[in-house]
Amino acid sequence: LRIARSRLDGRSGDGEGMAWILTDVTQQELATQSRDQFLLTATHELRTPLNNLQAYAEALQAEENLEIDQQKEFCNVIVSEAHRLGRLVDQLLTVGQMEAGSMVANRHELELLPMVEYAADQMKAQADQKRQRLVTDFAAKLPTVFGDRDKLQAALVNLVGNAVKYTPTAGEIIVRCGVVDNWIRIDIQDNGPGIEEEEQDKVFDKFFRGSHAANSEMRGNGLGLAFTREVARMHGGEVDLDSEVGRGSTFSMRLPIGGHSRSGI
Ligand code: ADP
Repeated sequence: LRIARSRLDGRSGDGEGMAWILTDVTQQELATQSRDQFLLTATHELRTPLNNLQAYAEALQAEENLEIDQQKEFCNVIVSEAHRLGRLVDQLLTVGQMEAGSMVANRHELELLPMVEYAADQMKAQADQKRQRLVTDFAAKLPTVFGDRDKLQAALVNLVGNAVKYTPTAGEIIVRCGVVDNWIRIDIQDNGPGIEEEEQDKVFDKFFRGSHAANSEMRGNGLGLAFTREVARMHGGEVDLDSEVGRGSTFSMRLPIGGHSRSGI
């Protein structure tokens, strides 16, 4: 709690309007701390592929008698490190756009079912490793959505990924999609730890990590849900949460049928 003595702008201007202002800055400071931590980690992570790129490229340049196989191997490392660097830079750019509120959608008419299927497939190996049951329950057909494929795909992978990540061994995750009340709705239900009521709004804040997540060795940067909700909203949709500690969580993403075009985009 920060307490500051401050002059209120009284109409008289005689300096009598003094007041103690109490602000709860704890959350704000926590968010700033975690953002600084994220930037520190990200900068560190940029250094590794950059060092590898430099080392392998210099080796190619300096060594004249390299076997062709070795040359190829070095080139493969260079290409894969360049890709890694690209992904990190994309992530940083997205965070920057989210911070500035300037994320832009690149829209097309989309079939959502294969995208939900892809998200579940992506997480299948991890779920198997944890002996989790990952069940899908899809409507036979869904109306199309006018949206940004990459962003929606990443948002869906985030939701299924979180369910797998936070649900313990032998848990169950059910991914449903269908049409409810004129919305296309994708539910990702898990029987994991659940989220305390006072944290349920905050999990959508940038850099926020739940107490359960922050105190465990589960990796994360607290950006996934902030990004996911931003993506749903930029399509005229929303992400809702229904959760109870000990029972589990259901994250529901809903999108308007046929899409939503915000003027100017
Ligand atoms: P990260 O996973 O990197 O921490 P997210 O933004 O994806 O960031 O999630 C924010 C927080 O919400 C997590 O730290 C975790 O506490 C909580 N959370 C998200 N999904 C789940 C889930 N399925 N079950 C329990 N807690 C979850």
